[in-house]
Amino acid sequence: MNSSRLTPVTLMPGDGIGPEITASLLQVFEALGAPVQWEVVPLGLKAFETCGDALPPASLESFRRTRLALKGPVQTPLASGFRSPLVRLREEFHLFANLRPARTLMPGGLHENVSLTIVRENTEGLYAAREAYLPAGDDREGIATALAWNSRAGCERILRFAFDHAIAHKRKKVTVVHKANVLKILSGIFLNEARSLHTREYSGRIDMEEMIVDACAMKMAMQPSHFDVIVTTNLFGDILSDLAAGVTGGLGIAPGANIGKDAALFEAVHGSAPDIAGKGIANPVAMLLSGAMLLEHMGAAELASRLRQAINSAINEDQARTADLGGTCSTETMTKAIVQCLT
Ligand code: NAD
Repeated sequence: MNSSRLTPVTLMPGDGIGPEITASLLQVFEALGAPVQWEVVPLGLKAFETCGDALPPASLESFRRTRLALKGPVQTPLASGFRSPLVRLREEFHLFANLRPARTLMPGGLHENVSLTIVRENTEGLYAAREAYLPAGDDREGIATALAWNSRAGCERILRFAFDHAIAHKRKKVTVVHKANVLKILSGIFLNEARSLHTREYSGRIDMEEMIVDACAMKMAMQPSHFDVIVTTNLFGDILSDLAAGVTGGLGIAPGANIGKDAALFEAVHGSAPDIAGKGIANPVAMLLSGAMLLEHMGAAELASRLRQAINSAINEDQARTADLGGTCSTETMTKAIVQCLT
């Protein structure tokens, strides 16, 4: 392919199963003939150990240039250590919208025919992780605190994104998920902004319903097909998107995108899966579906659709499934099956 027609994209394989599912993605994109020129750069724990920074300057520089990135999962130490490089990327590039579609890909699971999308605010709220200790008696770190904030402008931005996304994708309803019954100010500003924006600009164009986050979790577990598009704040969205993945077939098939005004970063919902890393059994589908979202974002909707069809055929016609989907395929045989469905 003529290299001048290729779009440069930063590729960050990450930690754990990241390099394994990235190898799968490279093979599949090659077979698809995707017009992408990869810039492979380090990110995560391995980058921290080798370069002293989980988000090395060269990786940041590459993304600054390309404005498009696909990343594998990163391993972040619990309760200490370096700040999540993903949270840093979301802040640095103002990637305010986290788009997480959850669809059932195969019959016979917990639920059938579910297709919902979670739109999560990505830069504010409790998840922004502005934390501090306060003294309690003799203990200098006796109390742990975190500053949570939601700005009116940030709420409006993500709500507008969700309403526009729902309309553009011919969805019927947006569910606004909050906890304004208890967090009357922090979550109240989000709910009030939703009501006001919907009345002002979206009434008659898209339906809106309101739901408290705990009730939403129960409804999603029991009747996920109730939902169409969900919009919510940062931490609620983080938790609900794993739940949505769980009710539609698991983390192995859940893709995601972080979208800003002039940059976008695509990644699977799942983490680095240290329990299966290096065993060659990780499911590459979540990474591949994130790749399909990247292609769509680049304007290559036809290629994205071909890729999704190939994944669907491999799973449902050829019964190619990794262990998390109840099969016996390795990452490599699953990748081969998908490549075969493309050709
Ligand atoms: P995890 O998502 O890595 O794993 C949860 C479970 O799902 C594990 O049993 C794992 O084997 C399984 N799983 C996940 N992806 C799979 C795949 N593609 N194929 C088959 N099975 C898969 O969550 P965790 O164990 O809580 O987190 C591990 C590390 O990942 C932590 O350091 C965490 O901070 C990090 N993390 C990173 C991201 C990210 O980079 N976006 C997201 C979540 C967690």
